[in-house]
Amino acid sequence: MRNRLGLIYSKLHSHFGPQHWWPAESPFEVMVGAILTQNTSWQNVEKAIANLKKHQVLNPRKIYNLPQAKLARLIRSTGYYNLKARRLKEFLKFFINEYAASVKKISQAKSGSLRKELLMVKGIGPETADSILLYALNKPVFVIDAYTKRIFSRHKLLPPDCAYPQAQGLFMSGLKKDARLFNEYHALLVALAKAYCRKSKPKCSVCPLDFL
Ligand code: SF4
Repeated sequence: MRNRLGLIYSKLHSHFGPQHWWPAESPFEVMVGAILTQNTSWQNVEKAIANLKKHQVLNPRKIYNLPQAKLARLIRSTGYYNLKARRLKEFLKFFINEYAASVKKISQAKSGSLRKELLMVKGIGPETADSILLYALNKPVFVIDAYTKRIFSRHKLLPPDCAYPQAQGLFMSGLKKDARLFNEYHALLVALAKAYCRKSKPKCSVCPLDFL
């Protein structure tokens, strides 16, 4: 599997080129984006982040101290905005209480124990936790999403209904534990799913993975 995963990566990388993820100006912005992007497009998240910046509140304590209704209004573009405002506040309570809202401090935590802590925060599931670990904190943790499962199950490299840990295990055991590689690999799979491996009518005949 190691060779096959490597081959898939090199095909995608030479086809799409580097993806420069995550599109954000700071690790904290990545954390906020990782929570807001649940069930919505990135364009909607960008609007919400721009709104937070425009109101000069893109800071852990400032967001945490905003009235819930005001925060919900500012992130309205992301959908489920009341729920996401609550989730953001739950995460910020954790970040402020456990790590004094310091990216430096949270970066020093071991990834295994930090992952468990993040998963205890209400509203943070494995994909969000791993996105924070990888893209905000540069920890070598592979992020799995619906696109990854779709691509790999279509090629019978994963069962169609596979659970998150099983899918993650495939990459974590089959690749060198390297945050830069994991960062790029996940971003390339997203690019592939959007351009070719769509939910219906995948464009297999022109896809860079047509050899699989
Ligand atoms: S579009 Fe087709 S060839 Fe490309 S990854 Fe999806 S199933 Fe595979």
